[in-house]
Amino acid sequence: MALAQKGEVDLRELAARALALHREDIHAVVVARRSLDARKGRPMGYRLRLDVHVGGVVATTRQRPKPEPVKKPMRVVVAGSGPAGTFAALRLAEAGVRVTLAELGKDVRSRRHDLAALVRRGQLDPTSNYCFGEGGAGTFSDGKLYTRAKDRARVNEVLEILVEHGADPSIQVESRPHIGSNKLPVLLAAMSAHLESLGVEYHWSDPVVGFRGDGGRVTVSKLRSGLEIPCDRLVLAVGHSARSTYEWLLEMGVAAASKPFAIGARVEHPQPLIDRIQYGAMHGHPLLPSAFYHVTASVRVGGNERGVYSFCMCPGGWIVDSSTEHGRLATNGMSLKRRDSPFANAALVVTVEPGDVAAWGRSAEDPLAGVAFQRAVEERAYELGGGGFVAPAQNLLDFLKGRATTTPGRSSYRPRVVGADLAEALPDLVTHALRAAIPRMDKTMWGFKTSEAQLVGVETRTSSPLRILRDSVTYESLSHKGLFPCGEGAGYAGGIVSAAIDGLAVADAILRGT
Ligand SMILES: Cc1cc2nc3c(=O)[nH]c(=O)nc-3n(C[C@H](O)[C@H](O)[C@H](O)COP(=O)(O)OP(=O)(O)OC[C@H]3O[C@@H](n4cnc5c(N)ncnc54)[C@H](O)[C@@H]3O)c2cc1C
Repeated sequence: MALAQKGEVDLRELAARALALHREDIHAVVVARRSLDARKGRPMGYRLRLDVHVGGVVATTRQRPKPEPVKKPMRVVVAGSGPAGTFAALRLAEAGVRVTLAELGKDVRSRRHDLAALVRRGQLDPTSNYCFGEGGAGTFSDGKLYTRAKDRARVNEVLEILVEHGADPSIQVESRPHIGSNKLPVLLAAMSAHLESLGVEYHWSDPVVGFRGDGGRVTVSKLRSGLEIPCDRLVLAVGHSARSTYEWLLEMGVAAASKPFAIGARVEHPQPLIDRIQYGAMHGHPLLPSAFYHVTASVRVGGNERGVYSFCMCPGGWIVDSSTEHGRLATNGMSLKRRDSPFANAALVVTVEPGDVAAWGRSAEDPLAGVAFQRAVEERAYELGGGGFVAPAQNLLDFLKGRATTTPGRSSYRPRVVGADLAEALPDLVTHALRAAIPRMDKTMWGFKTSEAQLVGVETRTSSPLRILRDSVTYESLSHKGLFPCGEGAGYAGGIVSAAIDGLAVADAILRGT
């Protein structure tokens, strides 16, 4: 369907023509799927999948089935209120389980103040920031809901639950659904309120700092306030930046292992340039959204093939400071629903294997080696920025030529950026891989490699550098009965939707085990 205002197109007429029917025979047409087709060399427009109802009545949407009520009382402590923890808590509470949700960070309202202090004055609260607090890392995120998760039924269930809590129903139809950083906090606060109405007990700014067991099974969860909560199960949904939690888990002998992750920097282009590259002559058309892109390349560095790719691309977005520790700087990206900032940004990252980080570990198999590696890169980036969470920035062509940038271009990053040579912060294997990959990416997206673009960063929190090992059927820790590693922090998810799916799966496994 050509670019047209919603409602401008008579879908019934369209369906009648496509099905060789009379318009009057069609009772109703519902858009089941909508995706923008902006491929070059053909008219730009939207591809629609329509549900066409001929004669009779339109099938009403079914109610989301609720879980069977538990047969005997059960108490579960959930650590973390991100998508994984929140969806696990919802499922358990709907089954009548008594749920206590402990969160390291603050509720969404207080969290906003802490983000303002970080963005305006470079003042970081290590417990309340872009990664930690009500709703987890997803709250002030871009809110992109597209996922590589294959289980469509689970994906649809997550989208359905988000719509139940106030998300725009279009997220169930769009091929690349996106909520936006200004809408998500409201939605996640609505979810918390609903969970409280189901009896979920929240403890803000009071993280789980340990547990006690009996006969090798978790029986008590300990919060930082000293509160000890008897529980039958403990769900660990702590996110990819829960470094202090990883440390006490390993001290307690919880089974874990290093896993691959990715590191790089954020690349920022003027959005109009990306629109011109992606939409060609149609750029600027009022019905076209800010254009997005995805670029990848495989390059040889140090005798190994390395994957280099763009990640978490934010059209019309902002680069944000997703640091969680003093003296260590990390970036990420977000955009508001309307995606109207003059900048386009994405993480440009290189795959890092356990073998690459082993030297940073306390021993050969140290699961925390990746965390030590991330910290070292973030410390150098912080120093390169000169402190106060000012970010180092480098013109893309300067980076390719190995020369420092003295005067950086305008950037969406706050508080601000300074000129630098990012190779002084990034590990050599990452610098070499990026330098080899960017010219190749320019071949698939001509114009990507430009003096109008700059790298800002560093991007280190793309996923968890370790996996907390669990049984693939029961989802229970391999070392501790009653402990359920969950979501991105446990190494089983990447992104809002897949973390929520993992939360539902862990809750279902707990309910199955009752
Ligand atoms: C700025 C930004 C933008 C992003 N944009 C997108 C996007 O557009 N689309 C997308 O799919 N993904 C995005 N992501 C990634 C996405 O947010 C995460 O993949 C997702 O939130 C992971 O969910 P989770 O529940 O596993 O963990 P998290 O969301 O990280 O939540 C974990 C929670 O646990 C808490 N916690 C930590 N330790 C403890 C403890 N010991 N006890 C209790 N609580 C604890 C933390 O404070 C945190 O609130 C973005 C991330 C960031 C930071």
